[in-house]
Amino acid sequence: MIVILKRRADEEQVQTVVSAIEEAGFRAHLSRGEERTIVGVVGTSPDMRPHLMAVFQGMAFVDRVVPVLKPYKLVSMEARDEPSVVEVQGVPIGPGFFTVIAGPCAVESEEQVMTAARVVKAAGARMLRGGAYKPRTSPYEFRGLGEEGLKMLAAARAETGLPVVTEARAAHHVETVAEYADVIQIGARNMQNFDLLTETGRTGKPVLLKRGFAATVEEWLKAAEYIASEGNMNIILCERGVRTFDTELRFTPDLGIIPLVKELSHLPVVVDPSHACGRRHLVPPVCRAALGVGADGLLVEVHPEPEHALCDAAQQLRPMQFARLMDELRALAGVMKLSM
Ligand code: PEP
Ligand code: MN
Repeated sequence: MIVILKRRADEEQVQTVVSAIEEAGFRAHLSRGEERTIVGVVGTSPDMRPHLMAVFQGMAFVDRVVPVLKPYKLVSMEARDEPSVVEVQGVPIGPGFFTVIAGPCAVESEEQVMTAARVVKAAGARMLRGGAYKPRTSPYEFRGLGEEGLKMLAAARAETGLPVVTEARAAHHVETVAEYADVIQIGARNMQNFDLLTETGRTGKPVLLKRGFAATVEEWLKAAEYIASEGNMNIILCERGVRTFDTELRFTPDLGIIPLVKELSHLPVVVDPSHACGRRHLVPPVCRAALGVGADGLLVEVHPEPEHALCDAAQQLRPMQFARLMDELRALAGVMKLSM
């Protein structure tokens, strides 16, 4: 259930709503927009709903009460009625923008990540990606530099000014990752690692939540709800391809769900064509398609020398390819009246 307050509701009135919720034994989740405050009621039981509805409808400063029937509530479009913008150190992701996050699959060395950061910044990327704790299918593959890698990302941020997106692979990494990262990434394989979602939510830091490659849209949004229910609404969804009957691509980019998710949820959604396609020449066309279908941005892998990459060598774009792609995207974004 969502309680939408009138435009001029003051702090005391907001607290009256919160107290009523807590007295009934539920939790209140506040979302303060530019225009008005919305209070989400978390944990209501069906038998209490009519009583609570009546309590709120009796308050003159309440505009309306919306029963949210979806199993995800705080992240649902009903909870806000307008798409939200997530801001990362002044970089917006949401309506009106097409925000490109780029960088190598993994942080391999200070020189590699610094070069990548300079290259993607020069081409117009707004954030730097790079994994320090890599989820790998085989235990014998390169699993990242850990905290050393995070320090290298921080050094690249210090020079370029690009905010850093990097993955926390386990709940016990979250505290360390949060010290260095501007956005904490939850990988596809961890989308339903509920303890990791909770810990990440508690940091209050922006979270990039990848869709699991066998997850339904509803499961994905429920995973986002885990983060939101910790009071953290700074969530960026990331579609990265799903597993289907076809094995020609690494995964299958599921672009049709972008407009659907934007109907169901107010959260911004970006697309990761690198992991979806798995081969670099296929990545730029899918990036252009993602812009066309209404995604709020991209997560793209770029490596100074992909042939020497320690992971995902086949899919990382060369610097020149990325620069050309960004020129094309800027032209398309102009037509769609989006800022990059
Ligand atoms: C990544 O972006 O570094 C990554 C491992 O992707 P995914 O979790 O989508 O496989
Ligand atoms: Mn990768």
